[in-house]
Amino acid sequence: MIKSALSLGRTLLIRPSSFRLCSSTPSEIPPASSEDEPVILEKNPYTKEPRKCLLCTTGVELDYKNARLLQKFVSTFSGRVYDRHITGLCDDQQKKLVEAIAVGFFFNLLFFEINR
Ligand SMILES: [Zn+2]
Repeated sequence: MIKSALSLGRTLLIRPSSFRLCSSTPSEIPPASSEDEPVILEKNPYTKEPRKCLLCTTGVELDYKNARLLQKFVSTFSGRVYDRHITGLCDDQQKKLVEAIAVGFFFNLLFFEINR
């Protein structure tokens, strides 16, 4: 039998009768303790916190005369007002912001550069 396997270019491996894939037997596994049980969290750590409006949380009133605040929501290169997904404001504050910026531009309180 072995000779025929060697003649074909294959090696024949013979496992001993005591060979096992898993060395530990069920009697050797220690009993489970309370430290091994899964930890149950009260709050899901992967949920995102809801985005809060900057102006509503701080209580700042929008005014066209507050040019430094308004300038943060306007692109300095194009003069465009940033969208809601960038400013993070709620719908009412975004509408008030657009109106205040329009008035600010009308009175030349806000500016933007024009590249020519
Ligand atoms: Zn808001």
